[in-house]
Amino acid sequence: MSIGKVKLKLNYYSLDRFPFLNTVILKSRLAWSIRLRWLAVAGYFLATIVTEVFFEISLPYRQIWIVLFSLAFLNLIYQASLWIQKEFSFPAEIIILHIHIIIDLICLTLLIHYSGGIENPVYLFYIFHIVISSILFSKSSPFIIATLVVILFFSLVYLEYNGIIAHYCLYEISIHDSLLAVVLILIVFFITVYVTEYICTTFMRIYRDSKRIIDKQNKQLIEADKEKTRFFQFASHELKAPVIAIKSTLDGVTKSFAGSLDPKILDLLQRASKRSTQLLTILKELLELSQKRNIKTIMENEKIDINKILNDTIRNEKTSAEQKNITLNLDLNKNDITTCGRYEDFEKVFGNLINNAIRYSPNNSVINIKSEVNNHNFIFEIQDTGIGIPDNEIHKIFEEFYRAESAKKLVNFGTGLGLSLVKQIVENYSGKISVKSKVDRGSTFRVTIPIKTC
Ligand code: ADP
Repeated sequence: MSIGKVKLKLNYYSLDRFPFLNTVILKSRLAWSIRLRWLAVAGYFLATIVTEVFFEISLPYRQIWIVLFSLAFLNLIYQASLWIQKEFSFPAEIIILHIHIIIDLICLTLLIHYSGGIENPVYLFYIFHIVISSILFSKSSPFIIATLVVILFFSLVYLEYNGIIAHYCLYEISIHDSLLAVVLILIVFFITVYVTEYICTTFMRIYRDSKRIIDKQNKQLIEADKEKTRFFQFASHELKAPVIAIKSTLDGVTKSFAGSLDPKILDLLQRASKRSTQLLTILKELLELSQKRNIKTIMENEKIDINKILNDTIRNEKTSAEQKNITLNLDLNKNDITTCGRYEDFEKVFGNLINNAIRYSPNNSVINIKSEVNNHNFIFEIQDTGIGIPDNEIHKIFEEFYRAESAKKLVNFGTGLGLSLVKQIVENYSGKISVKSKVDRGSTFRVTIPIKTC
């Protein structure tokens, strides 16, 4: 065979033809079909014992068991090859699956032959193969397998009916006595085979087409999200420098000419400076968020002491809590917890959550902060008795710029970016963040991060 032809053949089995499958899925289906085969062999073996012992039907049991034994032996080889060869190429797996199905069909035909031929409704088991092949393969394969079933079963019945091979009678009266019965059974069975094949392949085609559309849309959404992040990064980066320049000019003017300026103008300039500080905060958080989104994996892996970071952050937030006479109730894990990551990331997570709890809590209230280690996970929980988050807004609080209405009323300025940043950092560490909240009762944020060794 020329190289061109080999390539053509391999292209036939390329992933494009089977886009809904991949080697991992195929391998799991191979393993599944092996388990199914063990069940089928054991089930058939038990059935022959029952027919021999309880119904005393005389069948060539030795031949049946030889076929079952051969099938079991083949299955053992399939199983061993799956254990030994951890990874098959996609075309190889497709070819192996085809071979398995063809051998199964031949074995089933032999079993039907030794157990009564057309008289044994076991021939309906062919349908399973049609369904399985329609699920596994696309285009012509299921049709070819359906035709193979028809050829095998027709040949068997033809050879038995004409006495070319033996017919093992199951009942006292043989179906072979009536040609009409034989023809009727064959016609109905063949129609069933092709209708099953048609229904299954049509259904699978619709499923594959829908999956293809969903995958495509998913890709477009991911691309749009990346584009948005790139835009955020570009805009915040470009805007930061002019805003810093405006702010330092305003600060310079208010400081240098404070005495000589009209109080109204001074007030206006100070307000403008405050606004530019807020704008700078937004830009910094936006830049940080887009950077964290771009670098999904943790780049700098340094050994960090989580307890130290948590204690440092709590110390930093103490002043804001004291200003509102809020008590920070601590229940922290005393043992050393070291993991891989960046000090700043953990500081951002703890800092944002503690700061939010303080900002959205009333004066003289209590905030409970708890940390623990469970199943190689570090867990941080913060519970406040603040304004809470309405049910219809809770799912939006991790979106960029989202601020609940009640939060806007209580705290004038907020970027709406803190929680997006926290969520992004936690996810970059393969962790999770969840929130439970009741309006006017308070909120509980819980962060779970797997502990890693460097
Ligand atoms: P910001 O606090 O700057 O508005 P965040 O992203 O940190 O931005 O929070 C987003 C929104 O989530 C807040 O505006 C607020 O509505 C809600 N939120 C966050 N933490 C709390 C909390 N502890 N209690 C009540 N609402 C909260």
